[in-house]
Amino acid sequence: MAALAHTPLEEIDKIHGELRTAFNSGKTKSVAYRKYQLLQFAYLIQDNAKRFEEALAQDLGRHPLESHFLEINASIGELMEAYKNVESWAKPDKPSFNVNFVFMRPLTIKEPKGVVLIISPFNYPLWLCVTPMAGAIAAGNAIVLKPSESCPAVASLLHELFPKYLDPSLIRVVNGAIPETTKLLDLPWDHILYTGSGRVGRIVAAAAVKHLTPVSLELGGKSPVFIDPSSDMQLAARRLLWGKFANAGQTCVAPDYVLVPRAFQDTFVEALKTAYATFYPEATVAAQNTTKLVNPQAFRRVNGLLQGTKGTVVCGGDTDEARKFIAPTIVRDVKGDDSLMSEEIFGPILPIVPVEDLDEAIAYVNAHDHPLALYVFTQNETYKKKVFSSTQSGSAVANETIIIPGVPGLPFGGIGPSGTGYHSGKHGFLMFTHLRATMDTPGWIDKILGFRYPPYTARSLQA
Ligand code: NAD
Repeated sequence: MAALAHTPLEEIDKIHGELRTAFNSGKTKSVAYRKYQLLQFAYLIQDNAKRFEEALAQDLGRHPLESHFLEINASIGELMEAYKNVESWAKPDKPSFNVNFVFMRPLTIKEPKGVVLIISPFNYPLWLCVTPMAGAIAAGNAIVLKPSESCPAVASLLHELFPKYLDPSLIRVVNGAIPETTKLLDLPWDHILYTGSGRVGRIVAAAAVKHLTPVSLELGGKSPVFIDPSSDMQLAARRLLWGKFANAGQTCVAPDYVLVPRAFQDTFVEALKTAYATFYPEATVAAQNTTKLVNPQAFRRVNGLLQGTKGTVVCGGDTDEARKFIAPTIVRDVKGDDSLMSEEIFGPILPIVPVEDLDEAIAYVNAHDHPLALYVFTQNETYKKKVFSSTQSGSAVANETIIIPGVPGLPFGGIGPSGTGYHSGKHGFLMFTHLRATMDTPGWIDKILGFRYPPYTARSLQA
């Protein structure tokens, strides 16, 4: 694999300065300009879909079907959603009618924040660059994108293609690792969007506060799954295993662990085994038909969690350090103090945690950080409502798994330790937009409000 060419540190100040000058020219105020950039970005991906597919295979060992469904097509969709809607998103809003103020012509106008920094993680190295960028471009910002150095093939491809399709005076890629990101974080931005781990999220937030830069954090966490014993077991098993094992479990909204009533664990495990056997006939697991862990450190971390478990492996369990491969693995009888419950797994291991009943499952989730996503499998509306209304999470999903971030119109973001701020569609546009309150008061208003002027007298109080 070719090494990633890092952007020289001394060039970073220059890029920042050039973007500031170009932003100040007012070029991005034009919605037609923004639409052109969005369309060009969509063409960038469409024209080079095969190269992205290859780069994703190189970086993550991903099957093309997974790359197209979860990343390449989804990225084009996000850009086209912004392209089609930016005119209406960018229109000024009138506040609701108020007889006291209506003649002052109050209006909220939508202005770009300015020059923004977007720092992306490795797990969906294209989609998690494109989605926030679609919002930032639609809102009219100048952008520096810092892709993840853990996916050098995708990061290099973005660096190569950006100047061919996008306006380089306003949209740039800075490649590199901690030194380059630290340098970027020293500079004053008008907004920073960081997607990745909470550990680095804290570093980013601390750097942003020095310049009082607004910051959005798209983080992770342990997303739980509740299983209602009366739900359609085969359907739940299929959707759950797909959502967990796609991208080798390296999905921020991946189901992290499953809470099942103790008396029902055997039945549920049988349903999982049936789905597992159809998804992964032994030959395909051996033939590496699944995504790999992104790097040796990730392999060692996830393998450490697996080797430390006191639960029982019922499917999978094979590992191969040389290939950074961990087979999709299901572990039953996992307790709350198990290694698999100590941190976000971010790998292809699904722990089943038996609990007494739904109340205990809810209490367990509420005793931990608010997750990015929460899943429930049930056909019972009362059961679903109880889970949704007794918990807090970035998103809450019934009878489905990881698709929700790609659903147009829905906000995508966490709560508390799983993040702050929302991107995707109009929510991404608003994240990068300054809502500027304006008014324009005609002279005749003083016939009514003239009493406000000094000198203050008893008469002005009566007015
Ligand atoms: P990471 O934090 O290791 O890296 C993300 C980015 O931070 C990279 O661009 C990297 O260069 C930069 N970075 C790393 N260390 C840094 C440091 N010390 N100082 C400055 N910058 C630094 O995250 P990751 O491992 O790539 O991503 C995995 C995490 O991201 C998981 O927790 C996952 O749940 C979360 N995630 C969240 C979302 C979401 O939208 N909420 C999406 C994807 C991933």
